Amino acid sequence: MDWLMGRKEQTGVGNSAVPIYTVYTRCTLFPFLPRKSKGKPNGKKPVPEEKKLYLEPEYTKLRITDFEFKELVMLPREIDLNEWLASNTTTFFHHINLQYSTISEFCTGESCQTMAVCNTQYYWYDERGKKIKCTAPQYVDFVMSSVQKLVTDEDVFPTKYGKEFPNSFESLVKKICKYLFHVLAHIYSSHFKETLALELHGHLNTLYTHFILFIREFNLVDPKETTIMDDLTEILCSSSGSGSSSNGSGNSSAGAQNHVKER
Ligand SMILES: [Zn+2]
Repeated sequence: MDWLMGRKEQTGVGNSAVPIYTVYTRCTLFPFLPRKSKGKPNGKKPVPEEKKLYLEPEYTKLRITDFEFKELVMLPREIDLNEWLASNTTTFFHHINLQYSTISEFCTGESCQTMAVCNTQYYWYDERGKKIKCTAPQYVDFVMSSVQKLVTDEDVFPTKYGKEFPNSFESLVKKICKYLFHVLAHIYSSHFKETLALELHGHLNTLYTHFILFIREFNLVDPKETTIMDDLTEILCSSSGSGSSSNGSGNSSAGAQNHVKER
């Protein structure tokens, strides 16, 4: 984990600037490999849109901190932009991987036959651009493996002093953030009940709020991509003291919820 530690030092902001969410006991480097095939009792196909439990005020109000995320995500003076993007992206990757690992035993090829978020279905594309139909756990596996490879690649996420970021750095960060968003959105749309049962929804809400404000601050993900979760984003980001409910992707969620889209 030298790359992560080294990067923390380089940012010069110490550990206090990035809240550390709970480290879960099931965390391993590759939590997505050994999955039990315990499906949800009736979870054979992507279910038709049902009531979104995660929008209930009782659950959306829960956070693990009232920290001003809007301020937290802003580029601190004296810190290089790419360094800041790299530091945050690797941290989000780590936390989203952890959060997913808490419900990964419920996200199986049976319970989640496709990578679905509400009514949208995502497909993975291999290096040659070939579309691959896969289950949600396979998709998450593809995401986590490829991000892990990138953030530990010294040529892409350099940690050594004096080593430059590649020209493609920003576009790679954007890609990573897009896929991490898919994973977060899948946890909400397909595994919120399990997250509730584990009493981890406060962590999930906090992580989601922090992540969304970060990608908005640096325009890392096309607002069209995140529209699918705008209803939740509006609630979480406007009630977090962030004041960002009127920012960016805003109120355009209504039309996108009922279309099955391919990515
Ligand atoms: Zn799933």
